[in-house]
Amino acid sequence: MARPIEALTFDARFVTELPGDPEPSNRCREVTRACYSRVAPTPVSAPRLRVLVPEVAASLGLSTEVTPTLVEVLAGNRIVDGMQPYAACYGGHQFGQWAGQLGDGRAITLGEIVAPGGERLELQLKGAGVTPYSRRADGRAVLRSSLRELVCSEAMHHLGVPTTRALSLVTTGDAVVRDILYDGHPAPEPGAIVCRVAPSFLRLGSFEIHASRGDAETLRALTRFALREHYPWLVDGERLDLPGFVAEVGRRTARMIVGWMRVGFVHGVMNTDNLSILGLTIDYGPYGWLEGFDPGWTPNTTDAGGRRYRFGNQPRIAQWNLVRFAEALAHLVDDTAPLALALGAYGDELRRLEPQMMASKLGLCARPELVDEDDELTSSLFAALGAAEIDMTLFFRRLADVDLGPSVSTEARLAPVAVAFYDADAARSAAAEPLALWLERYAARARGDLPPDERRATMHRANPIYVPRNYLVHEVIEAATRGDDAPLERLMDVLRAPYDERPGLEAYAAKRPDWARSVPGCSMLSCSS
Ligand code: AMP
Ligand code: MG
Repeated sequence: MARPIEALTFDARFVTELPGDPEPSNRCREVTRACYSRVAPTPVSAPRLRVLVPEVAASLGLSTEVTPTLVEVLAGNRIVDGMQPYAACYGGHQFGQWAGQLGDGRAITLGEIVAPGGERLELQLKGAGVTPYSRRADGRAVLRSSLRELVCSEAMHHLGVPTTRALSLVTTGDAVVRDILYDGHPAPEPGAIVCRVAPSFLRLGSFEIHASRGDAETLRALTRFALREHYPWLVDGERLDLPGFVAEVGRRTARMIVGWMRVGFVHGVMNTDNLSILGLTIDYGPYGWLEGFDPGWTPNTTDAGGRRYRFGNQPRIAQWNLVRFAEALAHLVDDTAPLALALGAYGDELRRLEPQMMASKLGLCARPELVDEDDELTSSLFAALGAAEIDMTLFFRRLADVDLGPSVSTEARLAPVAVAFYDADAARSAAAEPLALWLERYAARARGDLPPDERRATMHRANPIYVPRNYLVHEVIEAATRGDDAPLERLMDVLRAPYDERPGLEAYAAKRPDWARSVPGCSMLSCSS
């Protein structure tokens, strides 16, 4: 039975079991020897519930009936019995440098819900006002970035990539000033709040902060808590299996990264404070989706110089971040060798999953004796895709339609994937030659491998037809800013079944139109959110 928000079962183990900051105010400060600060959301003037995601509500046992109390809670204007709101303290390495204390600068966890199945899920408002961790910023979020988080986290879930979820989007009625292009032209934008849902929002940086201060006591308390709540088989009385923790986080992170690489997602800010200890995609900021397949692409303007967080570098950055995590936990042990060894679990899992993932994208049966050959087939595909601007999503989806027959003309072989070329002429020019050659090799490999129906089904399960293309989300934002939420609802509906191609939805599967190539918010995004 779904219940109203005030009738849900709340718990607050994070705040009742871990050391907290004794100061109750939201004054900005360094918070030491504590995992969180108790802080209430700052009320907003005219909250309007714009989206409530029914399947996320259902997972909480929450009724979708829109009551004034529900809207007030989701806007941060009201706390109901059982909620014990807090902002978490964490640090992080940003762009490769230790950045010190960061923390929830504009996120406030309302409480922990004990869901009908017994699962515990935290509800967190993003954009709910200043906390001790806000530094010089305002603790608020704009509609544009909140909508991007809502749409993308839900899309990722339906794509089968581990992620935090989004329950709701509220506009606040208050303006928030942002300088989108960082060019000295700040302007007011509508403020908004997303309610995110996850079993935990703990990040690698949640552990690093205590290690950086030499505070082994708080670090140990947090580690014990995290293990007991999320990896209970790694706790035995006083004994904490720290190598097991590193290995488990590593394996989950590998699963997440392989998911990103499969669907063409680029996180854009893979700082250690933005990596979950549960391997969930978290903190959707200046992320993007590959359009033309380009492993060097980063959506984040702040990252444009070094392109540290480019698509093709994500597996390596995750590894770098995990090393920082293991270094933090090393403060709890005398012998660090087992931790170093445990870091190998990430690479092992990646090496196990990546070939499987590529095999499913290509509709091949991964055979141990063909590992090297298939590896080479993949790298030559990536090279061929780089010879022209070729849409990643459409290419892989249409690859299932390629004729595998032994004596098919080049033109006929290329025909199904020609739509993926951004420049239609390029599909008929020398730029298509590497791909045509590759398709010959591919056809030879795939022919007689899996039965045709199975091959098709495998590929359609691995290669979505609908993803939240940057320009699609941009259009939805423009409509929502005008007060029209229908395009947003339609897009979210389409993205609920990203692998099922449906007639009438061609517009959602289309390549990026030319106008969107250089529009801020479509091609490049800033962290200004
Ligand atoms: P992010 O790049 O979004 O992961 O944020 C890095 C840090 O900046 C985190 O500690 C955030 O909570 C904080 N932060 C980002 N935007 C704001 C804001 N508008 N107000 C306060 N803190 C913020
Ligand atoms: Mg963050």
